Amino acid sequence: MSDPSEESNDDNQLEFHISSSDDIEALSDHSNYNDASPSDSENEGDEQFDTNLPTTHRYLGKLNNISGYTLFDDGEVLTLLAIYTNTLVFPGFTLPLVMNDRVEQSIMQDFINKKNVFALVCADELGTKLYKYGVTMEVFESFSKQGVLYLKARGRQRCKIIPGRDIRHLGGRLQQITVTILAEPEIKSPICDTQLLTLKSRRSCSTENYQSLLKNYKYRRYHLAQFPNATWIYDHNEVCYYVKLILDHLKKFYFEENIPTDPIQLSYWFLQNFQLAHEERLHLMKLDSALERLRLELKFLEMERLICCVVCKAEIANQSDIFAMSKAGVQNNYCNPGGYVYETVTVSEAKNYDLIGAPSKQFSWFPGYAWTIMQCRICHRHVGWKFTSKHLQPHAFYGLAKSGLDIKIVNENSTQSTNT
Ligand SMILES: [Zn+2]
Repeated sequence: MSDPSEESNDDNQLEFHISSSDDIEALSDHSNYNDASPSDSENEGDEQFDTNLPTTHRYLGKLNNISGYTLFDDGEVLTLLAIYTNTLVFPGFTLPLVMNDRVEQSIMQDFINKKNVFALVCADELGTKLYKYGVTMEVFESFSKQGVLYLKARGRQRCKIIPGRDIRHLGGRLQQITVTILAEPEIKSPICDTQLLTLKSRRSCSTENYQSLLKNYKYRRYHLAQFPNATWIYDHNEVCYYVKLILDHLKKFYFEENIPTDPIQLSYWFLQNFQLAHEERLHLMKLDSALERLRLELKFLEMERLICCVVCKAEIANQSDIFAMSKAGVQNNYCNPGGYVYETVTVSEAKNYDLIGAPSKQFSWFPGYAWTIMQCRICHRHVGWKFTSKHLQPHAFYGLAKSGLDIKIVNENSTQSTNT
């Protein structure tokens, strides 16, 4: 079970974390970390953790701002610098990057000086070839310090690699690819062009949100009586219908105020935050409209899921243990000093794990918290970090690394399928 040769390629990064834990700060913290547990949360004078902090990626240090907002036209063909990572980032979300490699650094620096947009691509279902879909990323902060380049970039638009065009390897994780931009189609009601103009102004079948659809529902039914299909068929093609159902579901797990209500933003928020298997995410990335994404996301949402170890499938956490430590949601990308990007989901409870080494505050993704490496109790695979603090609320939580996890669907609804 514990044969080292079976372990994954991120073990180098794991070793880095272990070796870096012997700094003074970590040692001074070590004596106290056993005190921290979620149960002693009633201590007076405790400070609530500021959930705005993780999205600032303060562990990267103070970076220089780069201004601008780049949006390309639908179908525009571009030759872009592409970076390959093991994770996906969706439009509206942030990717932190640390570049130690000299070749990567100089190529990236050169590129940023000319234009600050690159493409993020990831592995396909087999983990071998590059996935043909990606996201354009706009660099908004960068800083070079002691031979290391630190970057923060935000996802802007989906793009697709044009088949047959050359993919040039530039060095390290960098490639030059040609992509076409996949813009978001306008959200339209399936019946918006079927009403007479004179009637539209008086009794508009408004479908901006579910409440407005219900408000004029009687007129909607009169209007739809002229078509051969039943009213519910048209209802099930309204984006607002899926927004309502998905929000109702998500409220059980997440803070309502952090979930966007805009259909496009919600469809990407779900992709970024919900516990999806890699294949499920890749499938969603292919879908062009918010309606198609939301429809499939609702199906995924109805399946009961467990978070398991990627190697031995031991249960590490339950869907209901997930909670948000960041304003951006429960699942975010963080970068370690070795340049490895970890997609991390925060949970309040975890099981079947052992803690390795001493806690360290060095490069902590959650300012004020010390981290300790967690590995699977059964197969010793790295599954994440336990974060502890004596002064902050909550006193302890877990950041699970997506690279060490698998999603097990335990109760698949009989009507579910990944086909839309
Ligand atoms: Zn395991």
